[in-house]
Parts: sequence; C-alpha cells; structure tokens
Amino acid sequence: MSSYRAWFQCINPDCGAAYPLDAIVYHCQKCGSLLEVQHDLAALSARRPAAWMRLFENRYKANEWPYGSGVWGKKEWVLPEISDQNVVSLYEGGTNLFWAERFGKVIGLSDLWIKLCGNTHSGSFKDLGMTVLVSQVKQMIAGGAPIKAVACASTGDTSAALSTYCAAAGIPSIVLLPRGKISLAQLIQPVSNGALVLSLDTDFDGCMRLVQEITKDPTLYLANSMNSLRVEGQKTVGIEIVQQFDWEAPDVIVIPGGNLGNVSALGQGLLLMNRLGLIAKLPRIVVAQAERANPLYRSYLRNFETFEPIHAQKTLASAIQIGNPVSFQKAVRTLRQFNGMVEQATEGELADAAAMGDRTGMFNCPHTGVALAVLIKLLKAGEIDKAERVVIISTAHGLKFVEMKVKYHQGELEFPSRYANHPIELPARLDAIKDALGKVRPNTPGSALTDTGPHGAARQDRAWSAS
Ligand SMILES: *Cc1c(COP(=O)(O)O)cnc(C)c1O
Ligand SMILES: [Zn+2]
Repeated sequence: MSSYRAWFQCINPDCGAAYPLDAIVYHCQKCGSLLEVQHDLAALSARRPAAWMRLFENRYKANEWPYGSGVWGKKEWVLPEISDQNVVSLYEGGTNLFWAERFGKVIGLSDLWIKLCGNTHSGSFKDLGMTVLVSQVKQMIAGGAPIKAVACASTGDTSAALSTYCAAAGIPSIVLLPRGKISLAQLIQPVSNGALVLSLDTDFDGCMRLVQEITKDPTLYLANSMNSLRVEGQKTVGIEIVQQFDWEAPDVIVIPGGNLGNVSALGQGLLLMNRLGLIAKLPRIVVAQAERANPLYRSYLRNFETFEPIHAQKTLASAIQIGNPVSFQKAVRTLRQFNGMVEQATEGELADAAAMGDRTGMFNCPHTGVALAVLIKLLKAGEIDKAERVVIISTAHGLKFVEMKVKYHQGELEFPSRYANHPIELPARLDAIKDALGKVRPNTPGSALTDTGPHGAARQDRAWSAS
C-alpha cells in the first residue's frame, strides 16, 4: 500500500476539521464551510521534483492500466489510497495542447496555446473529476457503504460525465437537468448511458438546490463539484499543461467559469506543483464569464468584498449559466493567490470569438468562445501583454453545441453573425459549380476582431453568404 495519504479538510482556517475520504460529507459538519482534499505534503516532499517529473513522464499515455490516464498517472497527488481495482477510468486526460498560431497572429499574440479538454470520452473536461469521484464511490461500495446511486445537478456536461463513468462501473446514476437549457447532445448522453434522467422546469441553480435535498439521504451520493473529490481530478489539467511545456508554467491561463469548482481546481494543481518544487513561478489565472451569468465578475469589480447571487439569464454558453456558484469562496481564494482577473463577454462577443477561432482551424464550444473573447478584451486593454505565453482552457467539444453553431451561421441569433458561412445548394451540374467557385474568398478571419466598431459592421466576406 501507498504511504501517501489524503483526507477532507474544512477550508475555513479557523476550523480546519478533517474527515476521511470515505465519509459521506459535503460540508464541514462543525462550521458549514466547503471542504477540500488535503494531501500529506511531508510524504510527497520526500520525493525530489525531478523524480516526480520522471515518474509522470514515464506513465504519460503509456499502457500500464490505469497510469496511462492523465489523471491516474498522477495518482499519488490525486487519490493515493485507492486500490487500482476500484479505479474507474476511460483513459481521460492527456488531451492536446496546441499552438494557436493563426488565431494568435490575428489578435497580436505570438505565444497562444489551446488546451483542448473537450477531446475526451464524454466531450468535456468534466471527465477529469468524474473518474476520481466514481472511483472513490466504487471503493466505498466495495467496503460495504450502502450507496445505491450517485446523483448530480448539471448544465449538461457533469451529467454526461457522471452517467458514463457510472455506467462503466455498473453503478446507478441520477441526473437533474434544467429542461430546455442544455444541448441535445448533452441530453442524449445520460439517456444513452441508462441514467435516471430528471428534466426539471427550473434552471441549474434550482436543480442544485434540489439535488442537495435528495442527497441528504446517505444512500444517494452527491457528485457535484461541491464534493471536492471532483476537484482532485480536475486539478490535473494545470499539472498536465505544465508537463506539456516541459515543466514550465505559462504566464496566463484563461478558464471559463460557472459554478467555479474548476478555477479552484486549476489553482490547487498548480499550487501543489509549486509547493513540491516542480515550478517556481505561478501563472496568472483569468476567469471568463458570460455577461448574462456573471456573479463572480460583479463581485470582482468590488474587490470581492461582497457577493450576491444573481438570476442567471439565458446564454449561449449554457454550461456556465449559473447565478449562485457553489464554489465562490474557493474561486476568490484562488484568484487572490494567482494575482487573478475576471472579465466577461457578451453573447455577440462570445459567439464571434468562437466562430473566428473556427476560421483559424478550431471548432469551439461557446464557453471556449467566452474565454477567447475575454482574451481579446484583456489584450486590447493591456492587461495581458503580447509577449506573454497564454493558455486557453477549451472546456468542451464543439460538436456538443451544434445547435448554437447552426443558428450562428444561419444568422438566427439576436445579433448579427460576423463570421457566418452558408452552404450553397446547387444542382449537380458543372456549370453551376463553376459559377459558385467565383465566390471563393481569401480566408481572412481577423479584421473584425481588431476593429472596435459596433457589432455587425459591414464586412467584405459577407459574400460567403449564399443569398
Ligand atoms: C462545467 C463547465 C465549465 C465551468 O466549470 P465550473 O467548475 O462550473 O466553473 C465551463 N465549460 C464547460 C463546457 C463546462 O462543462
Ligand atoms: Zn469547518
């Protein structure tokens, strides 16, 4: 067995109560604060930084199960006491980090990278945390815990990840979804995986309240990121990015935020590397929010002195349409530790930024669009320097959000689509095709990005339109 240890600990420094990882607790039972997983740092420090790097490199995408997984390759830092036979892994993590040369050129940033977390089993970065949570549940059930099912509230991606990992483990899952507020691709995932799918006439925040009620029954285990086991898996994204840069931290990481578990997870991974001596410098972290679901941004403007939950408005970035983020406090702590910033993007800005990225070879989900739009704004404002190395966390696969992309290109959104492109329907005749070939235009996505004019300024490449 491993000599490394981990436990739940209350995040309130005046309390510090601790609980074992197999306890069914989601809040501190003494003071009500959120919990986080703590590791035995003294034990982890006994291994030199270079030895950790070598270990992680040897495992990376290798075939020895389960260590080829991007999450389980870091098992000692994630969930050291789980036995390999209880790990439920679908080979998550290890996603590509690519140089966005062309998009970077257009916006004037030469060292821009995209961490494509959507290239994974269920199509979003939620797999990283869910493999950890479901593995721990499997271990608890094996140890005799009377858990009948695992439940979550979701804006679409958490339920997809939960249902697929539970199906792989043979554990029943229950998902509470806001009816009509998630994409069809997101809905069909838990349906296909055999989850109990509850589609409710409310929003995410309403589902979150209800799932907390039903999981007061200890036989129904809560899988939302309020459960900090999820954070332990999600934190590997930052570690993996640093590893992919040969153990050098970038200058800035931009991450879209909704319930705010992920920004703190990103911070936790980087802090652990820093404390164990693998990186000396910490990057700045930027949380990107949709203007229509921006409670963290509002609080940031007041230096986090106050926080008011809001009623989140309908946004194309549906996975972050959250008005009362559960992990608000953790996010604030992370942003303070990482000299962080929060910026927001309007519907038009996020959709155009996503589409503009697509024209440079990406295929963005709307949340990645929020992150790209925020990057453009901060670059223009001089908050990010053009010499800095910036990583955008692309959180989901664009194919999960085709409805939004179709509407964008058909011009059916409530704002003009600057980068709309239309398929041209033609008879299958050579003369008709030759006529249409005259419509080929240079692929120049950028000009509108660098102008500051109002949305929908007339653009030459409107000629792409079939009409
Ligand atoms: C969950 C999710 C986010 C936001 O993560 P939080 O931890 O809720 O802040 C962003 N993008 C996508 C695609 C997601 O599924
Ligand atoms: Zn406490």
